[in-house]
Amino acid sequence: MPPTPRKHIPAILPYPPGKPIEEVQREFGLTEVIKLASNENPLGPSRKAVVAMRALAAEMHLYPDGAGFYLKGKLSEKYGLPPEWIVLGNGSDEINGLLIQTYVNRDESVIFSEHDFVSYLLEALKANVKFKQAPLRDWRVDVDALLERVDSKTKLICIANPTNPIGTMIEKKEFERFLAEVSEDVLVLLDEAYFEYVTKRSYPDGLKFVRRHPNLVVARTFSKAYGLAGLRVGYAFANPEIIQNLDRVRKPFNVNRMAQASAIAALDDEAHIRRSRENNEKGRQLLESELRKMKIAFVPSVTNFILIDTGRSGADVTRALMAQGVIVRPMAGYGLPQHIRVTIGRPAENRKFLAVLKKVIQ
Ligand SMILES: *Cc1c(COP(=O)(O)O)cnc(C)c1O
Repeated sequence: MPPTPRKHIPAILPYPPGKPIEEVQREFGLTEVIKLASNENPLGPSRKAVVAMRALAAEMHLYPDGAGFYLKGKLSEKYGLPPEWIVLGNGSDEINGLLIQTYVNRDESVIFSEHDFVSYLLEALKANVKFKQAPLRDWRVDVDALLERVDSKTKLICIANPTNPIGTMIEKKEFERFLAEVSEDVLVLLDEAYFEYVTKRSYPDGLKFVRRHPNLVVARTFSKAYGLAGLRVGYAFANPEIIQNLDRVRKPFNVNRMAQASAIAALDDEAHIRRSRENNEKGRQLLESELRKMKIAFVPSVTNFILIDTGRSGADVTRALMAQGVIVRPMAGYGLPQHIRVTIGRPAENRKFLAVLKKVIQ
């Protein structure tokens, strides 16, 4: 018998990866399979990022720049905060874990909303710290419910805005009130993974609050609208003291060389972000209006995915869709056994999803 792990480890469920496209093709004997399961950009990465990656392939014997000098410089220029206010992560997901490892003592706790991004729960379990979950209200993060759960042991509150897998957002005035009420001893992680997709005017831009709130960390990523999920690169803005502490804990080469170079190139391609946002808006409008016609319940979304209530087992619907060549994400792992989450695709992918869903559900 091999040795036993630390006591809290067996209770952690590993993150369930979706099936890769090739595997679904093989298993069901399909030639055409579309994946609308991971909120990836259906238009792919920027051409500029692809060119940057190709140019760099022959330099992979060199370690990355562990300080991320040029990428931080570029982000600083674009968003108007100095490089000392930036930490880079192996995906923005790494930053949740770093915050917990760096700040939350064993007797302290983390608060986040029910059904919010599963990484907050996983990182709290891994670090073996306590956590509390606040209920949503009308499928939206309820800042009052979060505040009510704060006590003297609270160290970190995580909010994904928009929240994944629900697809709703909190409004600027709600976030302002939340920041005004929460004590400065409590760290606030505002996770803006879908920032580039949101077009609502009442959406709070977290970076506007970072200078005034030394407890605020705003995380963003190149995995979603930038279409670089495979490279694993994200970043956060926060007070330089927080950044220095995170730098003590992160691995020295957490963001690889290819990722840094293509993220820099991608930041120069505003047109790609605009096209991605437009494709997403049109696709979401189509999906939502067709779902209404089909009388299928869903949560209206501000981002690049929609949470759909199938009215039956979401796992069964997911399997039936897969057999027809459409991969979506079942939501039982998020405590939503009847729901599936579908990512907005290209127009033809959206139409195929709707046609197959109609067959499977009606
Ligand atoms: C996708 C996602 C992330 C970021 O993922 P990375 O690929 O690790 O950058 C972070 N938060 C939420 C809510 C997400 O949905």
